[in-house]
Amino acid sequence: MPGTVAVIGSINVDLHLLVDRLPGPGETLLGAGGTLSPGGKGANQAVAAARQGAAVLMVGAVGRDANAAAATELLRQSGVDLGLVAEVGGPTGLAVVTVDRKGENSIVVVPGANREVDTALVEAALPRLAGCDVVVLQGEVPPGTVEFALRALAGPAVRTVLNLAPVIPVAAEAMLAADVLIVNEHEAAEALAILSAAPSGLTGDPVADGGALVAALVAAGLGAAVVTLGARGAVLADGGQPVHVPAPEVAAVDTTGAGDAFVGAAAAALSRGAGLYEACTLATAVAAQTVTAHGAQQSYPWAENVQ
Ligand code: ATP
Repeated sequence: MPGTVAVIGSINVDLHLLVDRLPGPGETLLGAGGTLSPGGKGANQAVAAARQGAAVLMVGAVGRDANAAAATELLRQSGVDLGLVAEVGGPTGLAVVTVDRKGENSIVVVPGANREVDTALVEAALPRLAGCDVVVLQGEVPPGTVEFALRALAGPAVRTVLNLAPVIPVAAEAMLAADVLIVNEHEAAEALAILSAAPSGLTGDPVADGGALVAALVAAGLGAAVVTLGARGAVLADGGQPVHVPAPEVAAVDTTGAGDAFVGAAAAALSRGAGLYEACTLATAVAAQTVTAHGAQQSYPWAENVQ
């Protein structure tokens, strides 16, 4: 049985510009070319979950501008329900990514309409959110929205997944209301700082340290936590001892959006009743595949193509 996933989060267009070198202050450079692609962590996760078979509802906002169609194109193509995506006055969220020949980049993000993903929007969506198996949140919408949703959905009916990326100042008590926290190593350390907790026994070995971070998050009161470790996979704890899920070995060409693919795929698996270990096993397979192709959403595989 496919499950239902709601994603409350950001919807952007990403404009990638290729330049010989990054411009200095006051400087005008000629770029080698630009590509526009759909992005935003919320939208990425919604596409990843839909392609893994979940029925996905997106709660977010776009502007009344030309970028809105480009931002939502792959959400539409992936079958995501956009009935709760508001059209608001500001611009659609925009990320301008300038990359030089050495692969160095500079990024400017204009949140635009994503700032309008407020508590009123989530409150209006609550009747539908309450009927979902899993609700996913990240850090590209206002912290008050994340806190409101986690508090309102606390309880056994809905499983909430918080991907605290980027780390925003959510109240510790709201973070602890999340059923599952998914973060990378850096975010895990910052999340622990919010919870006034620190890991013990760090060794410098990424997998062992992932275990220490996960153990500290669970000791701080989280029901379940996952720390992603890039090419090393992920470590999870669901009440008991930390467990490592290795990533399949692949030839990586572009890791953009790998974390979002992981979160979306894990949410899809959890929504159909999988345990956290099984969900992370699928998520590592999906995320590994996405790093073998360029871009974020366009690199996300459909369930039947996951190796
Ligand atoms: P990003 O910001 O690039 O989206 P992130 O920092 O949020 O990523 P990572 O821990 O780097 O998160 O990656 C998320 C997951 O993607 C990993 O747990 C792993 O499953 C997969 N992954 C990332 N890089 C690789 C790689 N080189 N080979 C295989 N799998 C990878």
